[in-house]
Amino acid sequence: MPIYEYICSACGKPFSLFLSYADYDTASVRCPDCGSGSVRRRIRPVRVATGEKARLEKISEEAAGSDSPQMLGKVMRTIQENSGRELPPDTNEALTRLERGESPAEIDKDYD
Ligand SMILES: [Zn+2]
Repeated sequence: MPIYEYICSACGKPFSLFLSYADYDTASVRCPDCGSGSVRRRIRPVRVATGEKARLEKISEEAAGSDSPQMLGKVMRTIQENSGRELPPDTNEALTRLERGESPAEIDKDYD
């Protein structure tokens, strides 16, 4: 079940909810602190700052010393699924290649 992060527009407090995809369409989300219905989805600052490609590069760098692309791919896939968002096609392709066991360095070469 994906985790959705919200921030309350009334009191400014962030909170997280577990919602099924079906619930996400129909649920009326309220701030657990002040009860306001004036809430908005929260986007993690690091994602805004770096973007998908930069994030992929950063994770690839961190994994450069690792000899397990599949593990890296698994971690990234888990992050993606928890975010509840679709990946851009090229990022998704790179992730699929990681899961097949291709090295991050090889994949990086195709994106330069
Ligand atoms: Zn509130």
